[in-house]
Amino acid sequence: MEGYIHSVETYGTLDGPGIRYVVFMQGCALRCKYCHNPDTWQLQAGNKTTVQELMEDILKYKNFIKSGGVTLSGGEPLLQPDYAAEVLKECRKHGIHTAIDTSGELPLITCRHAIDEADLVLLDIKSIDSAKALCFTGKGNENVLRLLDYLEESKKEVWIRHVIVPGLTDDYEDIEKLAEHLSHYTVISRVDILPFHKLGEYKWEELGLMYELGSTQPPEKESIAKIKTIFRKYKLNVV
Ligand code: SF4
Repeated sequence: MEGYIHSVETYGTLDGPGIRYVVFMQGCALRCKYCHNPDTWQLQAGNKTTVQELMEDILKYKNFIKSGGVTLSGGEPLLQPDYAAEVLKECRKHGIHTAIDTSGELPLITCRHAIDEADLVLLDIKSIDSAKALCFTGKGNENVLRLLDYLEESKKEVWIRHVIVPGLTDDYEDIEKLAEHLSHYTVISRVDILPFHKLGEYKWEELGLMYELGSTQPPEKESIAKIKTIFRKYKLNVV
């Protein structure tokens, strides 16, 4: 089986616990205005790689990543669900910890088998307000919230990720609603608050795409601190 892969990182320290081999897969159906990887959006692009070829490379690093594992990221890895499931299944056979970094926007029926192969799901919730999510990603949040319910039922560990973009996702009332919603789930072991940055802006230019956030600045430290305090109020382990 072949998959479309954008690139790999062999010393990932941000996408799950420990040192990780991170596979950035091609394809994403969302169009987040703050995306820093628009070069992954197209599905049939990048390097066509078989599961066996990818596993051969992963296994070269098996000792190196023993404190961590393998994370499938993107793009949206669940747009290639059969490939993702196969890679994660192979990793598990070799005793390697597995994670999927997803926006959760796909219907569960299309990707449940891949999710079931992951030890950990990094779930990027764009906004608790579905209309706002629709406005700056192109899709509402119904599927991601449904996926979170499924992860709770499956007792699957989850790290929530939430990008703070001034003017888009930093509304304190929305943050409060999100924190309150998350506080009902027992599987969430951590919440990552990720400040918006513009490191990917040049990619939009290279692709001939219009970047709407050119004048948006990264959030102030005080704003991030206040947002973290809101999550902590709901007993969430915020990082
Ligand atoms: S989900 Fe991720 S890869 Fe897809 S558009 Fe949004 S930020 Fe970019």
